[in-house]
Amino acid sequence: MIYKRSSALFIEAERVIPGGVNSPVRAFKGVGGTPIFVKEAKGAYLYDEDGNRLIDYINSWGPMILGHAYQPVVDAVIEKAKKGTSFGMPTEIETQIAELAVSMVPNIDKIRFVNSGTEACMSAVRLARGYSGKDKIIKFAGCYHGHSDSFLIQAGSGASTFGTPNSPGVTKGTAQDTLLARYNDIENVKELIAANPNAIACIIIEPVAGNMGCIPPKEGFLKALRDVCDANNILLIFDEVMTGFRLAKGGAQDLYNIKADIVCFGKVIGGGLPVGAFAAREEIMNFLAPVGPVYQAGTLSGNPLAMAAGLAMLTGLNTDPEVFNRLDEKTEYLHKGMALVLNKNKIVHTINRVGSMISVHFAKDDVIDFETSAKGNNDTFKKFFHGLLDEGVYIAPSAFETWFITDALTFEDLDFTINAVNKVSKTL
Ligand SMILES: *Cc1c(COP(=O)(O)O)cnc(C)c1O
Repeated sequence: MIYKRSSALFIEAERVIPGGVNSPVRAFKGVGGTPIFVKEAKGAYLYDEDGNRLIDYINSWGPMILGHAYQPVVDAVIEKAKKGTSFGMPTEIETQIAELAVSMVPNIDKIRFVNSGTEACMSAVRLARGYSGKDKIIKFAGCYHGHSDSFLIQAGSGASTFGTPNSPGVTKGTAQDTLLARYNDIENVKELIAANPNAIACIIIEPVAGNMGCIPPKEGFLKALRDVCDANNILLIFDEVMTGFRLAKGGAQDLYNIKADIVCFGKVIGGGLPVGAFAAREEIMNFLAPVGPVYQAGTLSGNPLAMAAGLAMLTGLNTDPEVFNRLDEKTEYLHKGMALVLNKNKIVHTINRVGSMISVHFAKDDVIDFETSAKGNNDTFKKFFHGLLDEGVYIAPSAFETWFITDALTFEDLDFTINAVNKVSKTL
């Protein structure tokens, strides 16, 4: 395929935008080459500035679960925009989407809308600290909760249980309050708690990890985490920015039947507009301003266009009883088809999948945490990525990303993809 115009646009963008992109992973640093500029998208397909058609397995990193330019969202946004795009005053549609979200998700009474997943997670942690009166948090290596300071932390060296900053600009002071645990390792969590008695406000986790490839929680892991939180008076935060309204109507809480204390949302909940949200039972949410002492605010929070898009998206998911089954079925079909051709071509690999999240790892061992995910062969991944791109299949430009399956994909699209994987795997 030819990417002449994309390449030219990228050079122009680099002059005025750092790295030419407004979010780093778009820059193709993990795979080499220059990013593709999108002109438009419809259903399962992207159309780029050079006129190429690509089958899209990123779907804006999750939101377009019902396909690009999903008509009810487009219509809702257009109608709302005609009536004014922001007021900084309450609107009825905020209550409508809040009521719908609360009815779909287990264990939440109240929800607050913000503008991104980052804001949701950052605010959830502040709320947990304010509510519990404790400062430290536990997060898991390889889980992503947005780019706020408390989360840009890597494991400390040696026997240290403290985290250290993994980006310049994050202070040591902030890093000290974030403890790093290994995903799927409950003993490691217990050790951190024992070493920091009565100091831990919350544990934040992606209930299915999606930012180191797709990594399912081991059988019993989430339940054990719930128990350890209860035993130590620690709040459990499920970061469902990726899994919420994707794995089931009620997200991972619903799928695994585990109660979180605070739940974070983003991606699907905004239908492709900038939206995040966090939610909890009433007693916790009432700790937020203006009822409670924990401050949190936003000029554009609950923006009418964003709420209209989110409401149309959630309504679409809520009124289609088969949508999550269909998504599972399509993803399983893709999984089996890819495994068959990769095995046939003797490519060492592991495929992880939960619902409509799936990732291919060029690793021979099970991928269960950040360490095992990082063992994947990145050179093979790069070839795989560029090979698929040449065939018209767009997957995330990094081996650490999940593919997001959309309901707009047909079985023909999936067969096309499996054929492309077959062709590309002969070149790996
Ligand atoms: C994408 C993501 C975030 C951050 O959301 P943004 O809207 O990009 O700020 C947080 N947590 C998880 C699990 C995510 O996948």
